[in-house]
Amino acid sequence: MLGIYFLWRHGDFMSITPVLFPELIQAIVSAIEAQAEAVTELDQILGDGDHVINLQRGLQALKQHENEVTPLDWCAAWQKIGMTLMSSVGGASGSLYATLFISLSKHSQHQTLNVMVFADCFQQAVEAVKQRGKSDLGEKTLLDVLIPVSQALQQDAKAGVALTDILTNLANVAAAGAESTRELLATKGRASFLGERSRGYIDAGAKTAQLMIEAIVNVLGSHLHD
Ligand code: ADP
Ligand code: MG
Repeated sequence: MLGIYFLWRHGDFMSITPVLFPELIQAIVSAIEAQAEAVTELDQILGDGDHVINLQRGLQALKQHENEVTPLDWCAAWQKIGMTLMSSVGGASGSLYATLFISLSKHSQHQTLNVMVFADCFQQAVEAVKQRGKSDLGEKTLLDVLIPVSQALQQDAKAGVALTDILTNLANVAAAGAESTRELLATKGRASFLGERSRGYIDAGAKTAQLMIEAIVNVLGSHLHD
């Protein structure tokens, strides 16, 4: 019985391939578009106001490479995504997301992806982002979303939580992570120039990280229910 359950869960995960890439990108584009004004307002207060434009440039570049990405396995797809972001997105967020995907690719090499393996790869990729940004939890950045999401994913994967429940959980953790940046003091990136005046606003990069995770979770969830 347990064996069948594991096979079923494993099967679920294996059905998630880069064939879904165009749908994932479209969901992310729509989610960012819907909140573009609100996020830009935050970024004009805390940063230089270009974060949404930077991300949108990256997303358009990814769209242009869709047909090259869909036939790949995730390892090769993540490498391609990372390199595309590296060359198309300016700003801190560009190099941080490029690092995330290139590291995901590096750590997933020669591995059969299942939820547990993916959770480990993601955790190492988030570590690489921390190193790249010389930053950590609690500094009012996108890491305040990525770190708790990575931790929740690891915990749930280890505990054998069903994939649909993991996805719901990750969306909730991402939302809480973005909200947590509101009262934090910015110590990294442009927002750090504001010092105490950085408190009271959600970090734009944390908000878009949440929106992107939510979009991904929704697409993956809809396929698991098929
Ligand atoms: P830039 O700060 O170069 O203008 P963006 O506007 O694209 O780049 O992205 C800003 C977002 O990047 C911030 O809201 C924050 O979440 C994130 N960020 C900036 N610097 C760092 C850093 N050192 N570590 C982690 N995240 C960072
Ligand atoms: Mg900026």
